[in-house]
Parts: sequence; structure tokens; C-alpha cells
Amino acid sequence: MTSSVEHFDVVIVGAGFAGLSLAHGLAGRDLEIAIVDKRDSYPNLFRAEKIEPRQAESMRRLGTLEMRAPLAGPIGKTLNVSGDKVETFDTVEQYGIAYGDTVNNLKRQLPADIRVITDTVSDIVPGKHGTISMDSGSVLHSKLVVIASGFVDQLSASLAIRRKDYPELRSLSFGFDIRRADGAGFTFNGLNYFPSETNSKILYMTVFPIGDRMRVNLFTRLDPKDPMAKQLRDHTLATLVNLFPKLCDFTGEIELDSRIQSVPTNYYRVTGYRVPGVVLVGDAFQSVSPATGSGLSKVLTDVECVIDCFLSRWKDYESISARDVMSYYRHREKRGCDRRSLQSWYYADYNPCKAMALPEKVSRRLRLALKVWVARGVFP
Ligand SMILES: Cc1cc2nc3c(=O)[nH]c(=O)nc-3n(C[C@H](O)[C@H](O)[C@H](O)COP(=O)(O)OP(=O)(O)OC[C@H]3O[C@@H](n4cnc5c(N)ncnc54)[C@H](O)[C@@H]3O)c2cc1C
Repeated sequence: MTSSVEHFDVVIVGAGFAGLSLAHGLAGRDLEIAIVDKRDSYPNLFRAEKIEPRQAESMRRLGTLEMRAPLAGPIGKTLNVSGDKVETFDTVEQYGIAYGDTVNNLKRQLPADIRVITDTVSDIVPGKHGTISMDSGSVLHSKLVVIASGFVDQLSASLAIRRKDYPELRSLSFGFDIRRADGAGFTFNGLNYFPSETNSKILYMTVFPIGDRMRVNLFTRLDPKDPMAKQLRDHTLATLVNLFPKLCDFTGEIELDSRIQSVPTNYYRVTGYRVPGVVLVGDAFQSVSPATGSGLSKVLTDVECVIDCFLSRWKDYESISARDVMSYYRHREKRGCDRRSLQSWYYADYNPCKAMALPEKVSRRLRLALKVWVARGVFP
């Protein structure tokens, strides 16, 4: 086993969308930067598959929008079906992407002066400059350590950062490709379909192109052990047509064109993050409901806030104190984005088919506001 010790201005732990977006955003500024990931390339996991307009703006600022894969144009005109109502709207700048391919592209296109290390980070010890230990035995020292390692229980025994789960908020998402049984193309660019309110655990489905594939994302609040979840995994299309009875009016007869990926998620946020020289970004800090499409917004907001703090102040400091890192967590943009993302998790069961009287609307809003306040308030 070879071991070495190296010094950096910034070490990023995790080369997912968050870590790589940050590396690109900080590149070209005469900084010593390293990014470490336990995997050489990102696998084909079901994660964000759409870039929304504000996310596209942020990626453009970071110089990464043109690195998405496939590099296809916006989805454009999309049908919105809720109950009997069918509307067409233009998504303006919404793109279908393959998450793994995009992440791998971002990694391939990193500038040469960013050190890319394939290794598993096993421990992070904070100090004047943080110490990052890896499974290979190599050690890095860095003024700033950015944890961008996604959904992890506990990264380091030396940090008191812990994940606090909130099981009340859960989701189960399904992703798969479809094709028309007659081999013809689809007659729409994109389709969003909200079911009638008979089963409140089924939120909505969205159909959109990723390159030459037609992708379906189905978002639910099902428990993975729910019989309906099993039906959706085992008899996907038949169950889908039961839940969305007019689906074939829009798609024609359809067949599966890929395996079914189903991913359970629940809300969590970390505690104990007031650590000198260490910050958490993206899913490492707080999870999102996939149904809300706010994951990449949270990632990109965190990334832009770290860049803002680092370039405007921290880069000139000899070391970054616990008080300094709190200016990132208290950044107006970050706090607002985290709050909106959590709120939209509660609002994800909003069904546009359901008409509500004003008192019901007001009471629902108040109940939801209270829940969000409690979910944020239980964390320091
Ligand atoms: C099913 C699903 C659908 C979603 N749909 C959407 C959507 O439509 N729109 C949207 O905006 N968001 C969506 N999201 C959320 C979005 O995908 C995530 O918020 C985003 O991908 C998080 O990126 P990240 O970089 O923080 O984490 P990740 O992409 O998970 O990256 C973490 C990286 O850290 C590495 N790592 C972990 N531990 C270590 C270690 N110890 N040492 C070294 N490396 C390590 C991993 O290998 C990985 O490469 C969805 C999420 C899911 C689960």
C-alpha cells in the first residue's frame, strides 16, 4: 500500500452532480483543487432526469449546461392532463438528461489542473487545515473540505455530523423507457398526467424524451412494501393504465423499452454541521422529494453559495472557522432554497384536479406551514 500527503485549497469529497458542478465553478482561479470519488465512473442510477429552466440558468453561469448528456434541445410543447382537463404549455428551457451520462461528462471535461482521485474517503478530521484519509492510506490536507457524497449515513467517525431522518415524508419513484407498439413515434414532446384523486399516494407521471428514448418518471408516496408498489414493479404498464385511464389516448398502445428502476427516498437533514473548514452540499446536507424536481436546484444553490463565500472571503483567510462556515449555511439563497424544497415535499401531494373551498384551502396551508416549521425547527 503506497501512502502520500498532499495539500490543497479545496478538497471535494464526492464527484456526483454537486461535487463536479463545484469543481467546474471554482476552476481557473489559481486554486489547488482535488475531487475524490470512490467510483471511477457514475453508474446508471435513477436520479434527476430533467433540468428545469432555473437550473439551466445556474448551469450556464457555472459553464456546465453544454456538458449535459444527451446535448438535445429543450423538451418544448408539453401536454398537461389533469382529470378531464388537457392543456398544452411550453416548458421553455427544460431538458431531458441521463443523470449518469451527464455526471460522467462533467468529470471528463474537468480542466487538467483539477486533481481527480479515485478512492474512498474514510475519515475527515477538522483542524486549521482539514485532514482527509482514504482507504488507500493516502492523506490530503485542505483549507476547505466540501462533503458532496450524497445520501450517506455517516462519513467520518471524527465528525459529529449525523443524519436526522424524517420518515413521515417518503416517496417511491419509478423510471423506465417506453415505445409505441406500432413502432411509430409519439405525437407529443412531453406529457404530464395527474390522476384523479382516488389514490392520493400516486402523485403524477411525466413522459419526456432523453435523446432518442421516451422516458417515464412516475412519482408516488407509496411504501416500497405496499402491494401497489409490487404491482407497479411486476405489471408496470397494466397498473399504469389502471391509474391513468386515458394514457393510451395520448401515447397509443405502448410497450416497455427498458428495465424498471424504483427508488425509495425519505426526508433527512444533517445535524452537527458547525465544523471549522468543512461544509456539506447537495444531498449530503438535505434530501429532496424527487416529485418536486428541486434536487438540482438545491445542489446548484449550495454550489453557488459555497463559491460566493470562498471567493469573496475564505480564500484570503489562513483557515476557515466554525463561525465562517455558518455564513454559508445562513446564506439567504441557501436557506430559502432548502425551505422551499422542504415545503414542496409537503405540497407534492397537491392535485390540480381537486377543487377546494377557501376555508379548506386556508386551513390546509396553515397545517402545512406548521409541519414545515416543525420539520425545520427540530434541527439546529
Ligand atoms: C429517483 C430520483 C429522482 C429524482 N428526480 C429529480 C428531478 O427530476 N429533478 C431534480 O432536480 N432532482 C431530482 N432528484 C434529486 C437529485 O437527483 C439529487 O438531489 C442529486 O442527484 C444529488 O446530487 P449529489 O451530487 O448531491 O449526490 P450524488 O449524485 O449521489 O453523488 C454523490 C457522490 O459521492 C460519492 N461518494 C459517496 N461516498 C463517498 C466516499 N466515502 N468517498 C468518496 N466518494 C464518495 C458517490 O460515489 C457519488 O459519486 C431525484 C432523486 C431521485 C433519487
